[in-house]
Amino acid sequence: MLDLTLYDPFGNMQFTDTNCFLCGTIITHEHRTPVFGEWLQDKYNLGKKELLLLDKSVTTFSQLTIPCCDHCHTHYVLPLEAEIEEAASNGITGLQALNQQKVFQWIGKMYYGTLINELIKEASPYVTPEYAVSEDPKMLGKFRSFFQVLQSMRVPMVFSDFLPCSLFFVEVNPAEDDLPFEYQDELTTMAFSIKLGSLAIICTLLDNGIIGRALGRLSQVTEGQQLHPIQLAEYKARVFYAAYIFNVVPEYFIRPVKPEDDHLVLDTLIDDVTNEIFNPWDMTAYAHMLEEMLKPWGIREQEILQNPRQPLSFLLTEENTFRPMEKLER
Ligand SMILES: [Zn+2]
Repeated sequence: MLDLTLYDPFGNMQFTDTNCFLCGTIITHEHRTPVFGEWLQDKYNLGKKELLLLDKSVTTFSQLTIPCCDHCHTHYVLPLEAEIEEAASNGITGLQALNQQKVFQWIGKMYYGTLINELIKEASPYVTPEYAVSEDPKMLGKFRSFFQVLQSMRVPMVFSDFLPCSLFFVEVNPAEDDLPFEYQDELTTMAFSIKLGSLAIICTLLDNGIIGRALGRLSQVTEGQQLHPIQLAEYKARVFYAAYIFNVVPEYFIRPVKPEDDHLVLDTLIDDVTNEIFNPWDMTAYAHMLEEMLKPWGIREQEILQNPRQPLSFLLTEENTFRPMEKLER
């Protein structure tokens, strides 16, 4: 009989360097796996590239690793990385053709990897962080739900009628693009983006696809288009802002397991009775988000809100259709 037991490190906050992140097995300090797959590091020359962590400490992509037992490393992490590498070599169509649960797991592993580095650090008696995620019960509840579905990497799992995230695939026009690789994640809102050459994936984790549906018009008008990097930045601002006002945490329920079962089936529930799905849209807060994303171009909030009813957009026309942009003219 297949062992379908899930691991729950949140019960006793078992975040240490000697527990496998995925199954909890006791390991030694040498057993680790990179948060960013080795193929990514090789392909985009990330090894020595610096990375700023939540506590403002600096590490490099190659130093950012998580505790992982040999079994999980060989059987779950490496095959997943190989599958994504192969699909990504065929661009957006390659990744879209893949079972989207795999893309979720791949992004989820990087997100969770940065998260548990934070949690392991917070568990150290020598560290008193300014803001400790591990002391926020609401956030911990969210992370716990998220880890439940991330374990589909290890325990065969079928999501009854949902994907635990929204995925946005964007193609970037190479003409004015000089960033071969870019990555961004926000621990609390669970928004994530990664850019691999001319291909960008933006993801909001743990929203059961709701943000994807809410922003359906955006993905519709940009489909098949090559975006200018500034348009990608705005796209990210819209998705990250939606994650910021997203106000519910899905719950997941495992259907009772019979001895002959070879996988788990998960159902989900979102309480939209006691909570609104989205907090109200706040134009100033959105403008802040956009200003942040547009930093490389030095565009300030004032300019963004010149017309207070219609914030500055490089992506859409006033009629909400796509605004083609080959070169940025300002
Ligand atoms: Zn393991």
